[in-house]
Amino acid sequence: MNYSIDKIAENINAKRLGDAEAQISFILTDSRSLCFPEETLFFALRSERNDGHHYIDELYHRGVRNFVVEQLPDAFSSIYKQANFLQVDNSLLALQQLTTWHRSAFTIPIVGITGSNGKTMVKEWLSQLLSFDHNVTRSPKSYNSQIGVPLSVWLLNESSEIGIIEAGISKRGEMEALQKIIQPTIGVLTSLGAAHQENFSSIEEKCKEKLLLFKDTQALVYQMDDAIAAKCIEDFSYDGTLLGWSEKNKDVALFVEKISKDTTTSTIEYCWQTATKGKFTLPFIDDASIQNCITCAAISLYLGMKPETLAERMPMLEPVAMRLEVKEGQHGCTLINDSYNSDINSLDIALDFMNRRPDQQKRARTLILSDILQSGQTEKQLYCDVAELVQKRGIKKFIGIGSALMRQQEAFDGVEERYFFENVADFINSKVFNSLADEVILLKGARSFGFDQLTELLVKKVHETVLEVNLNAVVDNLNWYRSFLKPETKLVCMIKADAYGAGAVEIAKTLEEHRVDYLAVAVADEGATLRRNGIKSNIMIMNPEMSSFKTLFDYELEPEIYSFRLLDALIKAAEKEGITGYPVHIKFDTGMHRLGFNPRTDIAQLIEKLRHQNALIPRSVFSHFVGSDNNDFDSFSAEQFKLFDEGSKQLQSAFSHRILRHIDNSAGIEHFPERQLDMCRLGLGLYGINPRNNEIINNVSTLKTTILQMRNVPKGETVGYSRRGVIEKDSVIAAIPIGYADGLNRKLGNRNCYCLVNGQKADYVGNICMDVALIDVTGIDCKEGDSVEIFGDNLPVTILSNVLETIPYEVLTTVSNRVKRVYFQD
Ligand SMILES: *Cc1c(COP(=O)(O)O)cnc(C)c1O
Repeated sequence: MNYSIDKIAENINAKRLGDAEAQISFILTDSRSLCFPEETLFFALRSERNDGHHYIDELYHRGVRNFVVEQLPDAFSSIYKQANFLQVDNSLLALQQLTTWHRSAFTIPIVGITGSNGKTMVKEWLSQLLSFDHNVTRSPKSYNSQIGVPLSVWLLNESSEIGIIEAGISKRGEMEALQKIIQPTIGVLTSLGAAHQENFSSIEEKCKEKLLLFKDTQALVYQMDDAIAAKCIEDFSYDGTLLGWSEKNKDVALFVEKISKDTTTSTIEYCWQTATKGKFTLPFIDDASIQNCITCAAISLYLGMKPETLAERMPMLEPVAMRLEVKEGQHGCTLINDSYNSDINSLDIALDFMNRRPDQQKRARTLILSDILQSGQTEKQLYCDVAELVQKRGIKKFIGIGSALMRQQEAFDGVEERYFFENVADFINSKVFNSLADEVILLKGARSFGFDQLTELLVKKVHETVLEVNLNAVVDNLNWYRSFLKPETKLVCMIKADAYGAGAVEIAKTLEEHRVDYLAVAVADEGATLRRNGIKSNIMIMNPEMSSFKTLFDYELEPEIYSFRLLDALIKAAEKEGITGYPVHIKFDTGMHRLGFNPRTDIAQLIEKLRHQNALIPRSVFSHFVGSDNNDFDSFSAEQFKLFDEGSKQLQSAFSHRILRHIDNSAGIEHFPERQLDMCRLGLGLYGINPRNNEIINNVSTLKTTILQMRNVPKGETVGYSRRGVIEKDSVIAAIPIGYADGLNRKLGNRNCYCLVNGQKADYVGNICMDVALIDVTGIDCKEGDSVEIFGDNLPVTILSNVLETIPYEVLTTVSNRVKRVYFQD
């Protein structure tokens, strides 16, 4: 669908400057996702941390001609001659207004989904159930925010027959805006869960806000057995049809009579509208999936699906994997594996993700794609669209797998290299497969095509022990700490020690996307590695060595200065290179007595030296708390702060430019938000551990391995070196490929700690070896090849650090380099 720029200007009440003709099909809010410049309308949005207006110049040069702005760029009519600027008071409101208007052109059923858990799952499964006979348009991934919802609604087009849109909120007042944009005709409330409440005083309050989505819907599907939901709905004077489902109450729209579970499937027997009996089987056994499927069943039945049809389709549901995984591949390849349901919107997101990955060697991009199932479009049109996207996103090599792609190969004539295969087996036996090397490969295939097997063959088989790093959790932790800060407070993210073990390059890339102000590493080489991998953010070097000045200057790394010796040497080195105004960060010692100037006795001389040179310029001044994690040290922290406050003010008063002051670390941000000054330094908290109570905020890293071998060991035998592991009863012992050389501390052995095998605790028995450890799996249902969690999502790293009488920092940073880091994003 497209609209003329005139029509759009009129609809968002904009003042139009420029008179070029334009037809708009795409809207863009993030300059990095640009794909079709000529037909794109860019909305310059302002947020607390960023301003879309800064990207206008770049986008203009990349071919974008249409912009919605709050403020016109300087001299726009002479610089951006061919552009149209639509000036409005608030770009976000304009975006919402435009999509609200777009939405009102449709009279089709629109399902609006909200809730705390399961929104995306319900959206995907409902779409799978309905796509057999309807053209369904749904939100991509979990686009459910104030910006994501308008972008989702924009996807509705002439051929849409049903829309499914997800809505998520984080504070009061947001749902009203989303309701206007979505205008759902059918409402769905998924599980409320106990997710933490951020800006709400209680779950009830949050639930009430969520219900606002449903105010004009004809019907509302929800689970009645959830007492809070039921109560809130009762209080919410609702005019439409209530479609509750329950396991307890017969007198409801959908009464769930019986749930029986097998090893891999569950069967639900139900009664619809107290009249029609039915039954279906689904390929899942966990409670969350069962609940979400029942919710989908209620909506489908309401939309008129016959119980027999439902029973046919339910067993075919595909699991919703929302991960985009990055793995190291064979022959110098990087693999990006997207097992998310295949459709063109998620393909676009995956291609965009691929293009944003750091890549030092600038390798060519390859896409391996299976046929796209259930698209609702004609085959020809679908693959023309896919081919266009593939070219726009810079794919050099395209490999299509499946009979539909075989039929539609002509559409891909414009791609440099292209190959088509009937199935995965044909591809694996081909020359094309064997010649994959030094490329970045995106694998996107429907499960039924056997892409799992393909991935298996392409990933580099190294050590079977991996550290999985959840990049979304990093962002969630970042936002959790940001919530303590004023919008204008700057943030340094500490990614020293390879980002506390998580891998500095990928973490830096993620943080850069979320616009943190500074990244900080310990030594210059770490900074140089980041630069070589394309990191452009400001980088602070906490412990610069005297021998690394050249690296600092070459890579624009900003050193911390903690002594006169370092200061003098750096001034000299900079002067020799003819450098002026090089930014440095001054460290005060206020109590740690580790590194730093004494803010009382050194300050006069420090000011004197800094003022009598122009090679360096103090960009910031900081100090570090000794014990912000512990209330016992509160009075000492107060002393430290006072000393810092006085010294840093004195330094500032000697200069006319602004010198940023900072002292709070992770614990400080939470405990002393009033001491946030101009900037804070976030470390451990970013990686999910709250240093104040050792609790996990959002877990980032999971160290995993697999069972190599299992054996029965009779009572009285011993296992491992030095016969330390005495077996006291007949036992089953498993060997796992992780040892102290991987960072598994020897002190955990001899039953001092445990790992998890299929969710159950298995003690380490005997001494931990260099590359292998032995665990007791007696009574645990497991087999060779099963996964073992050393620490992570289900076993907090702090359990290990407590046993080791150390801090989680040490456990995280000692996971050795030979353990592969695997990154994923939901
Ligand atoms: C490591 C470090 C931090 C971060 O500390 P956390 O306790 O991990 O938040 C802050 N400032 C300095 C100077 C550091 O070296």
